[in-house]
Amino acid sequence: MNAPATPTTNEAALAEYQQELLPVFGQPALVIERGDGSYLWDLGGKRYLDLLAGIAVNVVGHNNPDLVAAVSKQAGEMLHISNFFTSRAQIGLAHELLRVSAAPQGSRVFFANSGTEAIEAAIKLSRRTGRTKIIAAERAFHGRTTGALALTHKAAYREPFEPLLPGVVHVPFGDIDALAEAVDADTAAFFVEPVQGEAGVIEADAEYLRAAREITSAAGALLIIDEIQTGVGRTGDWFAHQRAGIVPDAMTLAKGLGGGVPIGAMLTYGPEVSALLQAGQHGTTFGGNPLACAAGLAVVDIIERHGLLDHARELGEWFADAVAGLDDPRIVGVRGRGLLLAVVLRDEVSAQVNTAAREAGFIVNAVAPDAIRLAPALTITQTELATFVDALPALLDSIEPTEGQPR
Ligand SMILES: *Cc1c(COP(=O)(O)O)cnc(C)c1O
Repeated sequence: MNAPATPTTNEAALAEYQQELLPVFGQPALVIERGDGSYLWDLGGKRYLDLLAGIAVNVVGHNNPDLVAAVSKQAGEMLHISNFFTSRAQIGLAHELLRVSAAPQGSRVFFANSGTEAIEAAIKLSRRTGRTKIIAAERAFHGRTTGALALTHKAAYREPFEPLLPGVVHVPFGDIDALAEAVDADTAAFFVEPVQGEAGVIEADAEYLRAAREITSAAGALLIIDEIQTGVGRTGDWFAHQRAGIVPDAMTLAKGLGGGVPIGAMLTYGPEVSALLQAGQHGTTFGGNPLACAAGLAVVDIIERHGLLDHARELGEWFADAVAGLDDPRIVGVRGRGLLLAVVLRDEVSAQVNTAAREAGFIVNAVAPDAIRLAPALTITQTELATFVDALPALLDSIEPTEGQPR
C-alpha cells in the first residue's frame, strides 16, 4: 500500500496540520495517539488525565472493552445499509432511548450524525407547526450549520454568515418574565439547554424549565430541550431536564450518545408532535446507521450495568466539596451538576490554567475567561479526579499574574 509518510513527532505533525487543514479550529494543542479509560497519550508518549472526554463525548472512557466489542462486532457484520432498510441495532437503540427518556406512548426517534443535525431536524419539526418564530436563549449554543447557527447566540459565530434563518429571537437565559413576554401566537418553538455548556456550564433552575413548559404549552409552541451536551447520563440523570419533572415536545442528543462514534438523535414526545414530520419531509444518508446505533446501544448498556448515573451524581458532589475544601481564595467555587462541571476562578486566567494543566498532564477546557470546564468520562474514578483537585493550587501558583489583570 502506498501510505503517505506520517510525521513522527508532535512538532512535525502540528506543522503539517497547519499546512493541510482549514484553520477553523485554530492550532491544536496536541497530537493524540491513543487512549485508555480516563487517560490519553500524545505522540511523544506523554500521558494525560482526560477531564474533557472529547467535550462530553467519551462517556464510557477510551478503549472501553464493551464498546470496542460492540462496534467491532457490528463492523464485522455490516457498517451501512441506507434508510430503505433498517437494522436491529437501529430499532434497538430507538427502543432504549424511548425507555430511558420515559417518553410517553406515541413518541418517536429520528437519528442523525451530529448535534447540529439533530437541531436542524428540530427546527424543521418546529416549522411544521405552521409558525416561524423561534426563541432561543442568550449565550445558547446549538451548533454551526446555518439553521442551528441562527439559534446560537454568540455574535462571532453568527455574524460572518448573516443573513441566517429569519425569525429567531434571543431572550435572557433563566428569565421567566422575558420568556413569557417573547412567546406568542406566532412562536413555533423555544429551544433551551438545561445546562448551558459552551456558555460556561450555567444551569437552568428547575423552576425555569417548568415555567418554560407552561409558557410554551399555553401558547401552542413547542418546547425543545437541547441535551446534546447534558444528555446520556452526563448530569447524573439520563437527561438533565428529567430533574425538573417536565416532558418536552422534543429533545436533541448527540455528543455522548455513541461514546465517540458520531451519532445524533431527536426524540419527539407523544403522537401529535411525532406526526409533524411525515415520509419524505426529512432524511439523511448516514443517520441511524448500524455502526453508530450499535455503539449507542453499548453505551446505554454500560451506563446501566455500571450504575454510572449514580456515580456521576456522587462524584460531581464529591468534586465540589473537595474543591471547596482546598479553601483557596483564587477559586470561587464549582458550577454544574454530575460530571458537567466548571471550576470558577477569581481571575480571568482560565487560558493560562488550561496550558499549565496540560503541561502537568491534565486535559481540561478554558470554557470562559474565569472558568475551567470538566466533562470527564462517567467511568472516571474518585482517585483519578482527586489528582486534579490536589494539583489545582500548584497550577494556580504557576500562573504569573500579568499587568492589568483583576486581582
Ligand atoms: C456540541 C453542541 C451542539 C452541536 O453539536 P455538534 O455535534 O458539534 O454539531 C449543539 N448543542 C449543544 C448544547 C452542544 O453542546
